[in-house]
Amino acid sequence: MHWSQAIAKAIIAQRGERRHVVATGITPSGDIHIGNLREIIIGDAVRNALVDMGVDAKLIYIADTFDPLRRRYPFLPPEYEQHVGKPLSEIPDPGGCHSSYSEHFLVPFFESLDELDIRIEILRADVMYKSGLYVDAIKAALVQRDNLAKILEEISGRHLPDDWSPFSPLCDVCGRLSSTVVTGYDITNNEVYYECECGHKGVTSMSGGGKLTWRVDWAARWKILGVTVEPFGKDHAAPGGSYDSGKRIAHEIYNYRAPYPIPFEHILLKLREGDKARVTAMSSSRGTNIPIREILEVVPAEILKHLIWRVRPDRHIEFDPSTALLHMIDEYEREIGGIGKGIAAEIPFRHFLTLVQVARGDFNELLAVIRRSGYEIPTDAEELAAIRKKARYAQNWLQRYAPPEYRFEVQKSVPDESLKQLTEAQKRVLRMLAEAISSDRNLSAGEWHNKIYEVATTVGIEPKQAFQAVYIALLNKPSGPRAGWLLASLDAAFLRERFEAAAGTGENRK
Ligand SMILES: [Zn+2]
Ligand SMILES: [Zn+2]
Repeated sequence: MHWSQAIAKAIIAQRGERRHVVATGITPSGDIHIGNLREIIIGDAVRNALVDMGVDAKLIYIADTFDPLRRRYPFLPPEYEQHVGKPLSEIPDPGGCHSSYSEHFLVPFFESLDELDIRIEILRADVMYKSGLYVDAIKAALVQRDNLAKILEEISGRHLPDDWSPFSPLCDVCGRLSSTVVTGYDITNNEVYYECECGHKGVTSMSGGGKLTWRVDWAARWKILGVTVEPFGKDHAAPGGSYDSGKRIAHEIYNYRAPYPIPFEHILLKLREGDKARVTAMSSSRGTNIPIREILEVVPAEILKHLIWRVRPDRHIEFDPSTALLHMIDEYEREIGGIGKGIAAEIPFRHFLTLVQVARGDFNELLAVIRRSGYEIPTDAEELAAIRKKARYAQNWLQRYAPPEYRFEVQKSVPDESLKQLTEAQKRVLRMLAEAISSDRNLSAGEWHNKIYEVATTVGIEPKQAFQAVYIALLNKPSGPRAGWLLASLDAAFLRERFEAAAGTGENRK
């Protein structure tokens, strides 16, 4: 049983609701990375499992656009210092391309969700507040301020200041949420009185004129949206953490049953720096993250989804975009299916790495290379597009994450200097390989593979040395991709000439 089915079963067994709302949410304060994606993939898997079990369920995503900017992150220009404390929805886009700071990070993320084919209802916190959806929850929180403070103090073990309020008014003058203190409120007119550090004293509306503090907001939102299931990072699940306080606030203040919790472990990023590997938590502000859209330029959505889907939420995932990602793609194509459709799906990703490098990034040349490798070129536009797409994934992976041993270049001329290291026996191998191409017909990958072994035996050297001679003659390095595939993808006349030249035909001939 997949973990999502086990969770769905437990939800149905424990709760009586006939309609489930699975909630996810992220504060869009920076690039939304694949660590954040785990929450959505878990929510999506559980929602699908519930639906498969005949239960009505939907998945929602709440963008915390009304959260204040906590500090000026390293990727922000110095003038953003003035925006610290303002809601993300009210700050200009640092890239200058969207309507606000939060939209700048949300829009590409939503595009990625489309590509991942995740059906999700999107809500923005600033819109929810401005539309008045929170008014009742704000009133209840203000009226029960002392009870809330008691709950939070008991759960977190921290003492709250005397002027603490569950509501943070938005200052009319400086636009900050983080610098105001509530001095009173008017339940009938839905207004809150405040004083700000900037010196302003004012009155603000409960509809968009401020927000509930995070722990209170979370519980209020459960009730407002009818949330019954929620995946969240394990830190929220720690004793004394926000889920513990949310549970009590939901029950004691809002008379609502807290959602079924699905705490999950982090995705750790394995970064390579030279020969060393470093495992680190993903963090947008520290620059140790890979935005989802960037990964989707290297692997198709189904692989990214699979990477997260296959691991139980309580296990951490170590994401290594280098060799480990390639192994995972191999495994996926072997066990689940080839990436793309038609020919693109038939040719393994690993082989694409060879093909695109032989073709040097030229699409027409790539088609020629594919034809030489023994595949028929499709005429169907969609199939051609699938080839183009897979080639782009391969190129991007090679460029960004491939260790050097995966990169090669077929040498345009004979690498004379390196050829000096070849032994006479190795040269004989190359000569015999040249002779194997009798006409202009190239051999297939399988035939080449066998041929190299056969020739090595005839000459009386280790196959490894025979392969080494082939790589040096073609790539000017002693190792390379699978030789059969490489040779089959090259032009027959070119190969024959190159092997002859590298063998020094004419000299040393018996
Ligand atoms: Zn933008
Ligand atoms: Zn102010």
